[in-house]
Amino acid sequence: MAFWDKHAETLPRDKLEELQVKRLKDTVARCRKSIFYRNRLKDVDESQFSKPEDVSRLPFTTKNNLRMNYDFGLVTVPRDEIVRMHSSSGTTGKATVIFHSRTDIETWADLVARCIVMTGAGKADVFQNIISYGMFTGGLGLHYGAEKVGMLTIPSGVGNTKRQIQLMQDFNTTVFHATPSYILYVSEVMVQEGFDPREFDLRIGFVGAEPHSEQTRQRIEDIYDIDAFNSYGMSELNGPGVAFECEEKNGMHLWEDQYLLEVVDPDNGEVLAPGEEGELVVTTLGREAMPLLRYRTGDLARIVDDGEKCSCGRTHVRISRIKGRCDDMLIVRGVNLYPSQIEDVLMSFPEVATTYQIILEREGSLDSLIVRVELYPKMFDGDLRKLRELESDIVKSIQDEIVVRPRIEFQEPGSLPRSEGKAVRVVDMRGEM
Ligand code: AMP
Ligand code: ZN
Repeated sequence: MAFWDKHAETLPRDKLEELQVKRLKDTVARCRKSIFYRNRLKDVDESQFSKPEDVSRLPFTTKNNLRMNYDFGLVTVPRDEIVRMHSSSGTTGKATVIFHSRTDIETWADLVARCIVMTGAGKADVFQNIISYGMFTGGLGLHYGAEKVGMLTIPSGVGNTKRQIQLMQDFNTTVFHATPSYILYVSEVMVQEGFDPREFDLRIGFVGAEPHSEQTRQRIEDIYDIDAFNSYGMSELNGPGVAFECEEKNGMHLWEDQYLLEVVDPDNGEVLAPGEEGELVVTTLGREAMPLLRYRTGDLARIVDDGEKCSCGRTHVRISRIKGRCDDMLIVRGVNLYPSQIEDVLMSFPEVATTYQIILEREGSLDSLIVRVELYPKMFDGDLRKLRELESDIVKSIQDEIVVRPRIEFQEPGSLPRSEGKAVRVVDMRGEM
């Protein structure tokens, strides 16, 4: 079992918690240097903190706080110590910007290096970074970590799918990083171009940046004959490198020496017990230029609380797959549901191809939920009875999962829109009707 930083990754829990408390105090002190936190921390005495849970005495920080304090309102270092700016890929509202010092970039690259090595990838690999570069953190984040590990790094970015395939072939790519939706699309293009995705030299995939189900991971693994590892992060917390799966694939280790995690009830902000599902709230523990206290990520997950130490030897907490963002929740006919629940059901049907879309419409006063599903070509062999059976099986399974009865529309392979970055799964037309 390989480690990038064995000491930090396997620190005994008591030592880890001690370190967290020390870094938490330092972070609070540092935060006082920013315009935003100065006033908010007036009544806080961090010298009284003795355990990581004391973090809950601090106020939350929200995305809206970042927006309102655009641009330098949360920065704690002199302007000339900032070396990088990134931005969130959010599609609504004003962008949020994040600043990094040179040390921040170094620390971030180290965390990503831990993640890479944790999956079994290493120096001998050829790494194709099939994800957007630029203000989005996925590209540069993995890039710096991969170079640090010493992989031959190909910054291929997204798009120009045939060229991606050509690069994989010419340079014997062994490891890729991509969103699950785009890498599934790449496999479709491979097949169209007469390739078998399993015949490349690929052995490991890092997939993340968007919610995806366990079933989707298994599909990616089967299609390419690789091991695929879930990668979680967000620009506000650097980007990738916050939490990543180890070879056990039983939850993502979140690096607790740099991130102090709480799981809270998204409605009232109360801290939940380990194992309960809620919103991830994270305090940065080492960031210089723009530390964040109790940042409300908006992402829903739970701590893997199986009472077992991970057999990889790492002591850092594991979090479950991200169910979605609190604001991804759809209310359909009064029922709360997440797109990922529908994806879970769809991907368990082998006849269903990898792209789907959820459409919400209003018919009279009633919401209707339409799920457009692409089928694999072999299903279009004219056997209508088989198609009807499949349709009613899917309807029933979705209804069992989310209560609401959907209408299923089968689509020919390749007919739904494809994305190169984060996939748009839901089209809500209820406001427009
Ligand atoms: P950005 O700041 O633009 O990189 O977006 C970060 C957001 O992408 C997170 O807050 C999550 O909602 C989502 N995200 C990132 N990685 C994952 C993942 N592995 N699974 C599910 N959602 C993810
Ligand atoms: Zn592990």
